[in-house]
Amino acid sequence: MKIVHISAECYPAAKAGGLADVAGSLPKYQKLLKHSTMVIMPHYYTNFRSKNEFKSVFEGIARLGSVDYDYHYQIFKLQNTELGFDLYSIDIPGLFDRENIYSYKDDTERFITFQIAALNWIKTFKKLPDIVHCHDQQTGLIPFFMTKVEAYDKLKEIPTVFTIHNGEYQGQFTFDRQYLLPGFNSYFSGQIEWHGFINPVAAAIKNAWSVTTVSPNYMDEIGFSMAGLEKLLQYEKGKSKGILNGIDTEVWDPSTDGMLQKTFSISTVEAGKKYNKKWLCKEFNLDPAKPLFTFIGRLVKEKGADLLPEAIYNMMSKYPGEQNVLILGSGDAPVQQALWDLEPQFKGNYCSYIGYNEKLSHIIYAGADFLLMPSRVEPCGLNQLYALRYGTVPIVRRTGGLTDTVTDIGDGGFGICHDQASAWDITHSIERAKSFFNKKKAFKENRKLIMQIDHSWNRAAEEYINLYKSLK
Ligand code: ADP
Repeated sequence: MKIVHISAECYPAAKAGGLADVAGSLPKYQKLLKHSTMVIMPHYYTNFRSKNEFKSVFEGIARLGSVDYDYHYQIFKLQNTELGFDLYSIDIPGLFDRENIYSYKDDTERFITFQIAALNWIKTFKKLPDIVHCHDQQTGLIPFFMTKVEAYDKLKEIPTVFTIHNGEYQGQFTFDRQYLLPGFNSYFSGQIEWHGFINPVAAAIKNAWSVTTVSPNYMDEIGFSMAGLEKLLQYEKGKSKGILNGIDTEVWDPSTDGMLQKTFSISTVEAGKKYNKKWLCKEFNLDPAKPLFTFIGRLVKEKGADLLPEAIYNMMSKYPGEQNVLILGSGDAPVQQALWDLEPQFKGNYCSYIGYNEKLSHIIYAGADFLLMPSRVEPCGLNQLYALRYGTVPIVRRTGGLTDTVTDIGDGGFGICHDQASAWDITHSIERAKSFFNKKKAFKENRKLIMQIDHSWNRAAEEYINLYKSLK
């Protein structure tokens, strides 16, 4: 099969979160199953762009709707073949010649133009794709364009799959900006509308041949709660499916990971984790003799990050000097400030690194004893899967993919789970974790056990292929 993935992020070219990890690994595992796979993404002006060689393979024009603004663009192919799939990035000067992926005022214009440019190129292919697989709201209008816009008539019969990696971000905009879109018959307007707005996620759910989420449990949950789209998801249940994400076990392998201070395997896990923990403790002024609790991720409500300052304060005041906490993340300013404010009070046992640091995240997965994920919403969650592979026990709120992937030690499992998004639940889980940490033999055995849980892409890549085949 010829599979085209379209995504705003793809690791290692550009990453803001889990979407990049999936777009950078699912295609690779599909290629291993002998399918032709490519990823199309925007050509951001990042370090990756300057450090890698690209070759121009196509030049075209993307007209931003009836404003008659023509964006000249080029498609670049990455020359390095190490990714395991073909990576094409669309260079659109004026819109993507910037360092960051998102959070610009003209994001709507940027990603509409990206989607138009991608389809203008695809329709020139000698052999059209068998599947167009779109990821998240930045590509949500593509299934609509392919089926309702005359200019893309040629692509009408190609099955489309839309994967919801995060349903909270829908990219909606008002109808007075409909002029940005390519022309279509006005009686199709309802196909892009939800609650009075043009909503790319709603448009994708209505127009894609199939809709998937990144875990089965998240698929069940969003029928009841997904920022206003619940009813629509219920109507479209028949074409929807939850497929649990995998992880790239080559990138995330503690025995070969070049970002670690020391690599380790199951047989050397104790020494390996100790070495990485020591490094972290030295770097961040923590106590290597005490359990190390960590958090990695966006500091936003969705991740329950706003609950962390209170939970940390409670723990540290109740049990002074008995545990360490290390935070890596960035996001909402008040949460960042609250996390900073804790530092002077708990020097020697607490530190927060505000920012994005891929290398440090790997060392933390390797050196930590526990990883906190008190998420309110977690479509799949990759952090807990990386933690498991690196012998770190996840402490999670039972939601979305966390419910699918972590079982509590009290239920014969290997992690620590709680139900409420509250500081109290987090503190209680930390107390349970500490008592588990002190049962040295059981704790060490558990480390070895969790490192062996198979979350590789092999299963999920095949599930997607079966889904594609069912659409043909
Ligand atoms: P999200 O909802 O943010 O996409 P996921 O759990 O699906 O959450 O994926 C998060 C990914 O981003 C993981 O690879 C995680 O290690 C990484 N990550 C998040 N924040 C940071 C950070 N501040 N520094 C380094 N890596 C980060």
